[in-house]
Amino acid sequence: MQSSLISKIEKARIYAEEPERFQVQSLKVLVRGDSTVHAAEFGPNGWSCDCYFFQDTGTCSHTMALERMIGDILPDGYRTGVSD
Ligand SMILES: [Zn+2]
Repeated sequence: MQSSLISKIEKARIYAEEPERFQVQSLKVLVRGDSTVHAAEFGPNGWSCDCYFFQDTGTCSHTMALERMIGDILPDGYRTGVSD
């Protein structure tokens, strides 16, 4: 393996352990719920989801689950407040 590729792999390992280096700008994820697949997104205006609960409340289990998964790399001020 090329030494330059080896150094990139090592750098990637270090970056992956330093989430403060990353910030999600946009993301679209299909979430398989118990009975239906929902489309959840993160964009310039924060979270959105096509489920009924999100339309009524501005949050839902789908976006909260995603926040738990990628909360470390969301911009400040765009977390829904459930992190424990
Ligand atoms: Zn939802």
